[in-house]
Amino acid sequence: MAAEVLASAGAEVTVYERMPSVGRKLQLAGRGGLNLTHTEALDRFLDRYGPARPRLEAAIRAFGPAELRAWSAGLGQRAVVGTSGRVFPEAFRSTPLLRAWLGRLSELDVAIRTRWTWTGWTANGDLRFTTPEDGEVAVEPDVVVLALGGASWPRTGSDGGWVALLAGVGVDVQPLQPANVGFTVAWSEHFADHFGGTPLKNVAVTAGDAARKGEAMVTARGIEGGVVYALGPHIRDRVQRDGSTTIRLDLRPDLSREELRRRLVTRRPKDSIANVLRRAAGLTPVGIGLVREVGGPGIAHAPVDELVTLIKHLPVVVTGTAGIDRAISTAGGIALDEVDDRFMLRRRPGTFVAGEMLDWEAPTGGYLLQATFSTAVAAARGARDWLDR
Ligand SMILES: Cc1cc2nc3c(=O)[nH]c(=O)nc-3n(C[C@H](O)[C@H](O)[C@H](O)COP(=O)(O)OP(=O)(O)OC[C@H]3O[C@@H](n4cnc5c(N)ncnc54)[C@H](O)[C@@H]3O)c2cc1C
Repeated sequence: MAAEVLASAGAEVTVYERMPSVGRKLQLAGRGGLNLTHTEALDRFLDRYGPARPRLEAAIRAFGPAELRAWSAGLGQRAVVGTSGRVFPEAFRSTPLLRAWLGRLSELDVAIRTRWTWTGWTANGDLRFTTPEDGEVAVEPDVVVLALGGASWPRTGSDGGWVALLAGVGVDVQPLQPANVGFTVAWSEHFADHFGGTPLKNVAVTAGDAARKGEAMVTARGIEGGVVYALGPHIRDRVQRDGSTTIRLDLRPDLSREELRRRLVTRRPKDSIANVLRRAAGLTPVGIGLVREVGGPGIAHAPVDELVTLIKHLPVVVTGTAGIDRAISTAGGIALDEVDDRFMLRRRPGTFVAGEMLDWEAPTGGYLLQATFSTAVAAARGARDWLDR
């Protein structure tokens, strides 16, 4: 995106990419539907960036959801709105959008050098690369936009290898951590075998004082999915501080305790516990499995109040964060104080930074790509002004 903005302004642009092709993470992101942005009111949208909001706000206001949708439409991919306000390109996947985009970059004479890995700066400040044909090569651009990504899914190319290069020149880089990632839970083998990979629809999850309603997914080794990602920073901080933490699941958020109690007292003596949970409480098989997993064998004869508490406040002990390798995004990165309002590194005038390598995080819902595109546009506009100064 930075290349497009700069080339459109008349600059001669080269993109250097370490992988054999560009946009691999964008392709991966499109597998389950490329969620470009979101339609919610901008003020609420901006709140999704938590403490980073003040530093991202101007960039997102300047190139926000409306501009991103128009950009996608301009590439032949009209943006469509999904049920929850999430915005996708018409084709849902990334490939048609990426293909059209590469076509546009080619028309703008943007050169793309693949298999070029940036390895830092030479003594006189030029960019250093390892290249397939010529080994080590130094390049002396007028201006640089770094957009090297976070460290999740390293096989797409973003492996966080840049951290040492920037820290080496004194830039404050906050440790990269998995974000929008699942958490580990020591399920019994029986439960993991039966329910690993099962969605949990319409649940509410509480972590400390924070609660969210939505969907989650039981995995063989833990729990993941939208509602868990949304609470991710709360859960992650507690796990880091205490080694583990207990989250609470409400398996029937739409029913009050009283209503649930009223339904459960209708239990007939010969009803099995699974039957009661299914029929009276309306739990799905995975919900029943969870109550049995946490409640233990004694659950078969548990008093109604205990069942109600398990259904409404099911304690699940989270023992750790799933690895960064499978995280959707990365928290941490270049401290926002290290860049000025135009996303230029204060320590390296003429070098701008965009995207996930900056220290902000956001939940899933289109907020990651939106901030990536917005900061790229802002950094490129800053770079253009720098060239024109
Ligand atoms: C499975 C998955 C699904 C996702 N789905 C969505 C979604 O639906 N909506 C959403 O908003 N976000 C989604 N995301 C997140 C989104 O893809 C990222 O936030 C976004 O791609 C970040 O863009 P970026 O340009 O900062 O970094 P990246 O897209 O990671 O690009 C960085 C590029 O830099 C290259 N590079 C790194 N180091 C070097 C080097 N030293 N030299 C040369 N090149 C280098 C990498 O190879 C890579 O191509 C998803 C992510 C994953 C993993």
